[in-house]
Amino acid sequence: MPVRCCKFCLSLLFACVGLSANPVWVSLFNNAQVQSVVISAYTGDLLALGDMSQFTIVKGQAVNVVLHDRQIVVSNSRGVIGTFDRLIVAGVDTSAIVRLRPVLPFAEARNYDAYICMYADIGRIRMINQLEEAQYLAGVIEAETGAGRTSEFYKAFAVISRTYLYGHAERHVTEGFHLCDETHCQAFKGKCRYEAKIPAAVKATDSIIIVNGTSQPISATYHANCGGETESAKNAWQTDMPCLVPVNDPFCSSYPSAQWTKNISLDSWISYLVKNGFKPDPQKVTDFNFGQTNRKPNYIVHDFTLPFKQIRNDWNLRSAFFSISVGDDKVLLKGNGYGHGVGLCQEGAMEMGKRGYKYEDIIQFYYRNVRLVPIADLQINIPEILTTQ
Ligand SMILES: [Zn+2]
Ligand SMILES: [Zn+2]
Repeated sequence: MPVRCCKFCLSLLFACVGLSANPVWVSLFNNAQVQSVVISAYTGDLLALGDMSQFTIVKGQAVNVVLHDRQIVVSNSRGVIGTFDRLIVAGVDTSAIVRLRPVLPFAEARNYDAYICMYADIGRIRMINQLEEAQYLAGVIEAETGAGRTSEFYKAFAVISRTYLYGHAERHVTEGFHLCDETHCQAFKGKCRYEAKIPAAVKATDSIIIVNGTSQPISATYHANCGGETESAKNAWQTDMPCLVPVNDPFCSSYPSAQWTKNISLDSWISYLVKNGFKPDPQKVTDFNFGQTNRKPNYIVHDFTLPFKQIRNDWNLRSAFFSISVGDDKVLLKGNGYGHGVGLCQEGAMEMGKRGYKYEDIIQFYYRNVRLVPIADLQINIPEILTTQ
């Protein structure tokens, strides 16, 4: 079992950054097997603890961290500082920001609120950011939705991201953290930097999450644009969920991703269908026509059936919500929306925010049979991470 961040070291440094006793632990650059990374003090000075030896990284300076055997080697321009099982970096005060720039493999640098623990994991340097729930949620909302939206839209996303956190905080516990920073969990690209409305939205919705009829956090899924009707979880994932049922959406139709088209040659289309079990009996080409004014699960030609979801994947289409019409030697796919279509439609929610709807209305419009409740009303906590010490 690899060395992990330990509570003893954490308690030494919690005071520096004013971190609460129960932070969120997020694995950074989780999909990259990072072998080498540069840590720099972006704002403020950093205090570093390599096993039991302490050193500082002053503002503007950097250290290199390289994986070597089952340890990490830390060096600066003057030479090796030490070889450690574990390195903890914290700000000397709450304004300090740590900048991480993976070198091998290369990745764009990102900034983090300053409490990061690193250690050699199997074939990689594991980097875990421990941060307040509000800091984590603000970073997620900026990564997932970008800047320039309305406050009510951001409040809706604050509640959605918090619901995800509390519904999935056990997901990576056996690996030594709560959530990863990839879309497997929620995208997190570091500290929220560009949009002041986001931290304000997190604060304004403090502790509110979305629950279903049995008071469990819902699966608050979302997508870019539903094309006028959201998809049910039952059709998309064969899981019946009363909160994720089709909703007719009048709000997203004016956005560019509401419509798309694709042309395919008739020969390619027929050979694709044959590959999937279609028997090419003599018939009219117009038999290949199929309309979806509302979402349907399957494309049907006589007794041949193929799920639209599969066609979407096979042809890399923007959505599974499209009609098919044959003209001359071509097949025209005329589609609606972008994404899987289940849950909240982001562009529809943006439009609702612009038209003055409150975040509660936005959530209740896209998720049905749900309640918004403070987390304190439920028996749900962020679990403690087990460590080797
Ligand atoms: Zn994950
Ligand atoms: Zn929509």
